[in-house]
Amino acid sequence: MSQLRAAAGGLRRGGRRAVPPAGRKRKGASPRGGTPAPPPAPHLFSDPAEMGALRRNLLAWYDRCKRDLPWRTLAATEPDADRRAYAVWVSEIMLQQTQVATVIDYYNRWMQRWPTLQALAQASLEEVNELWAGLGYYSRGKRLQEAAKKVVSELAGRMPRTAEDLQKLLPGVGRYTAGAIASISYGQATGVVDGNVIRVLCRLRCIGADSSSPAVIDRLWDMANALVDRSRPGDFNQALMELGATVCVPKAPLCRECPVKQHCQAWRRVEKELVFASQKLFGKPTPVPDVEDCGVGDCPLCPPATEPWDSSLGVTNFPRKAAKKQPRVERTATCVLERRGCHGALEYLIVQRPSSGLLAGLWEFPSLPLAQGLQEEKQREVLADHLRAWMGWPVVAGGLRFIGEVVHIFSHIHQTYVVYSLHLDGDVTLDPALSPSRWVTEEEFHTSAVSTAMKKVLKAREKQRGEESGPGKGSKRKKGTKLQGASTARPGTQLSLRAFLRAPTSP
Ligand code: SF4
Repeated sequence: MSQLRAAAGGLRRGGRRAVPPAGRKRKGASPRGGTPAPPPAPHLFSDPAEMGALRRNLLAWYDRCKRDLPWRTLAATEPDADRRAYAVWVSEIMLQQTQVATVIDYYNRWMQRWPTLQALAQASLEEVNELWAGLGYYSRGKRLQEAAKKVVSELAGRMPRTAEDLQKLLPGVGRYTAGAIASISYGQATGVVDGNVIRVLCRLRCIGADSSSPAVIDRLWDMANALVDRSRPGDFNQALMELGATVCVPKAPLCRECPVKQHCQAWRRVEKELVFASQKLFGKPTPVPDVEDCGVGDCPLCPPATEPWDSSLGVTNFPRKAAKKQPRVERTATCVLERRGCHGALEYLIVQRPSSGLLAGLWEFPSLPLAQGLQEEKQREVLADHLRAWMGWPVVAGGLRFIGEVVHIFSHIHQTYVVYSLHLDGDVTLDPALSPSRWVTEEEFHTSAVSTAMKKVLKAREKQRGEESGPGKGSKRKKGTKLQGASTARPGTQLSLRAFLRAPTSP
């Protein structure tokens, strides 16, 4: 019943989750060390006839149903192996943690701008960050460019030709990416394991142990390597991932449409439960096979005894993961500094982040991490102090205008930006010896290497400005009109920096 409910859901098109290499310690390893004990048969693909049928069914479905994606077209039509590998590599890096629909536009722009490794190697990090802005996980673009430089300078522009060498020689290329490039670009018969493949394989073989544990990850790699089609390894790997992205999706898998359902043990279990339920209805109960018990005591791949099969979940009993670590909670004060430029257009001051760490090298509004539990008044003061030190000019805390709070979730950080604004006179100049900074128009802001979080911050400021303008009024000030924050400003209105300099700091 739960399966029928699950099958009624819509498609989800997940991005890829690269899987880290498994650690050395294995749960299922032989107690004397050495070769790990083979997994129990129900968790294996051991029948060559079944494996052959699964490959054929999956590939036939892929040929019929695969999505038309630009990197697939390039991989299928590009005759040059290095260019082909580069095209696949870019797509694989972009697809890590990001949805296909989001990646397509970025990918097309990237390949238009840097169609070869050599072109990418000549780009600046600033250009890479600008194009990557909004895609998230910014270090991916940086590492991709560093690796391209390495291929050009140390490997004579030739991409390594095997998964093993790709992983060994290219920074930022892990086991999954190496396998994907080698199988799709060079036809190497090597498997891949990403988040979609984990889900599909765990369901196909009823693997209910923690799918992020080294023991399970090792087994899945073994399984992927054994299953991969020898004559069409790239297509087979893409087909397995495509199945996970479009049919065997996390919450509502479309089992009835699945091309490999006859090979799927999780599906078989659900079918048998349905038969059992209907027989029970007619007074003819038959025993349901116990999926948790594969016949081997303490099986390292079965669901733990404390979390047995739950009939209400159907096939979504698998895969299972250990509870996710809660993201770190952080608060950051940020200030939208703005002025009217020489042509009357509104401009914003942005500053560049350090070249390492979170959002390395990206531009942002001046920001400052806040200690937990800081009161609003104190937040204002520390931000004013920060701006004062940064600009070398006095800034009155009370003149910072509170905009609101903007929440952005990074992979491991729950970040809240406490947003203020400050209007400056147009002739403000900053000491170039301080952090790199520049004034940008709104249009320039959006084409700069700024994070999605900062775009949200600007949106909050623009929303507030729009509300102040009232319905029917434009938010842009006409050239030559008086700037906000003149010496006649009333209490509570925003002051310009020049006005701050004139404003008394005490009553
Ligand atoms: Fe996934 Fe269902 Fe297909 Fe099994 S039958 S592989 S659970 S979609």
